[in-house]
Amino acid sequence: MHELSIVQSLIELCEQNALNHNAKLIKEVQVKIGRLSGVEPELFQRCFETFKESCVYCKEAKLTIQNAELEILCLSCHKESILKENVFKCPHCQSIDFKILSGEDLHLMRLVME
Ligand SMILES: [Zn+2]
Repeated sequence: MHELSIVQSLIELCEQNALNHNAKLIKEVQVKIGRLSGVEPELFQRCFETFKESCVYCKEAKLTIQNAELEILCLSCHKESILKENVFKCPHCQSIDFKILSGEDLHLMRLVME
C-alpha cells in the first residue's frame, strides 16, 4: 500500500522536527496532496490515525489535508493554468509542451507544535 509508506515517512519527518524543536507535542499536521500524486486522501487519513497512536509526538495530532490542483506552466505561450479535467494540454493554446508546477507531490505544509 502506497499510502502506508508515505504516512510512515511523513510521521518520521514530524517526529524528527518535534525533536529538533524540543516540542512536547504535535497538535496539527497540515499536508497538501497533489491531484496526480496517486495518494488517496481518505486512505491517507486512516493510515495516519492508525500510525500516530504509537508515536511520541504525533499521537494526538490532527491531520489536515489540502487538495492541490494540477498547475502547469505552458512552454509555448508561457501562461500558467490549472488543469481540472484529465486533459493534459494548455487550455490557452492547446500545447502539450508544459511543465508541472504543482499537483504531483505531497508536501508537508505546516506543523503546529507545543
Ligand atoms: Zn499555452
